Amino acid sequence: MTPGTNVRGKVTTEAAVVGGGPAGLVSAIALAAAGIETVLIAPPRAEDHRTTALLTGSVAALTTLGIWQGCVPYAAPLKAIRLIDDSGRLLRAPEVVFSAAEIGLDAFGYNIENRHLIAALEHRAAALKVPRISEAALAVDGEAASGVIVRLAEAEVRARLVIGADGARSLCRSAAGIGSRRRSYPQTALTLNLAHARPHGDTTSEFHTERGPFTLVPLPGRRSSLVCVLDPPRATELAAMTDLELSDEIERRAHALLGKMTVEQGRGIFPLAVETATAFARDRIALVGEAAHVVPPISAQGLNLGLRDAAIIAELAADAHRRDGDVGAPDVLARYHAQRLADVSSRAIAIDLLNRSLLTDFLPTQLARGLSLFLVDHIGPLRRALMREGVAPAASQPRLMRGEMV
Ligand SMILES: Cc1cc2nc3c(=O)[nH]c(=O)nc-3n(C[C@H](O)[C@H](O)[C@H](O)COP(=O)(O)OP(=O)(O)OC[C@H]3O[C@@H](n4cnc5c(N)ncnc54)[C@H](O)[C@@H]3O)c2cc1C
Repeated sequence: MTPGTNVRGKVTTEAAVVGGGPAGLVSAIALAAAGIETVLIAPPRAEDHRTTALLTGSVAALTTLGIWQGCVPYAAPLKAIRLIDDSGRLLRAPEVVFSAAEIGLDAFGYNIENRHLIAALEHRAAALKVPRISEAALAVDGEAASGVIVRLAEAEVRARLVIGADGARSLCRSAAGIGSRRRSYPQTALTLNLAHARPHGDTTSEFHTERGPFTLVPLPGRRSSLVCVLDPPRATELAAMTDLELSDEIERRAHALLGKMTVEQGRGIFPLAVETATAFARDRIALVGEAAHVVPPISAQGLNLGLRDAAIIAELAADAHRRDGDVGAPDVLARYHAQRLADVSSRAIAIDLLNRSLLTDFLPTQLARGLSLFLVDHIGPLRRALMREGVAPAASQPRLMRGEMV
């Protein structure tokens, strides 16, 4: 197999990654960087105008893998997060501002447009000469004893370990016989990027409305990305507005916090759901990213979880590889499942609770939410513990997130 080329015919390899989204690309780069022969199966991606807030652990992992250096010119630091109760309800939570400096960090993380992140990842994968097949997998046949076969139109890949990074409707997940638990919310996220008259001061502003959060996240310069969660008909209505109408509407919803706004090209609509696979690995197939878990775009957890998946499976596979062992052996996959369970479940539950507490009209729940934020605002150690756990969960710090190579 010639590195870096588009693969044809029958190929045998140690690892294959199915899916060229950010979780798949990071998995392929981490495995290749650990010296594990890896084939990337990744059809061309559709345009993506979203941005991703990457927390410090993710930035450390990307830096260690030689990716972040290509992201720096396009990334804006997130030095503070402001939570504003804009529900208009009788019981409103106090405004809370979290500052990264309080826990000794320059920034909680950085926000970057997905197109720049993907370009940096593609560039690194090419520099590492990761062999690639630029088409979708048509079938994945489990043969647990010796390897899994991934069938494509013009190639067939047999691998000891298959990383299923093929998104929320994962073929790999079905092939492994893994189910998922899904809950849809009566909410849709409208996403776009915009320019504004006033500086954002490296501060994310999250307005909690009774339909969901309205979040402005800094981009370099006087630009921000917006994730505006609404009920589906209202989201459709806003998405159909002219640029001028929408700019005014967003400025109004932001209470003119950042002055005059001008929306840019490219609007996205994403129905909100939470979905978790019933297992994260089985029969030589390990699931990463949205193939394993989808969480609503609240508190910037989705891809940060996905990158921890990628870092952990690469670390476990690298340990097996160094022992001349089987990178897809049952004990590697069992450890992967065990190491991801608490992190993924606790984040999914926390985001679900936060989101539902915004939607409810039930007074005691509103009171509890207000009281929690009041306590967080007034009790320093609780505040700092929450911030630390938010950016870097104590229970799940793979080597890459600590700045060490897999
Ligand atoms: C509005 C919004 C805002 C968000 N903001 C943040 C944020 O600020 N921070 C954060 O951490 N997360 C955020 N997220 C979550 C983040 O976007 C996702 O977690 C991330 O995109 C998932 O990446 P992935 O690689 O797992 O999946 P995807 O990006 O869905 O990639 C899957 C890939 O698999 C490919 N594929 C599918 N089927 C096959 C097949 N059969 N063969 C080969 N390839 C296949 C697809 O073509 C695709 O390229 C946000 C999500 C939304 C909706």
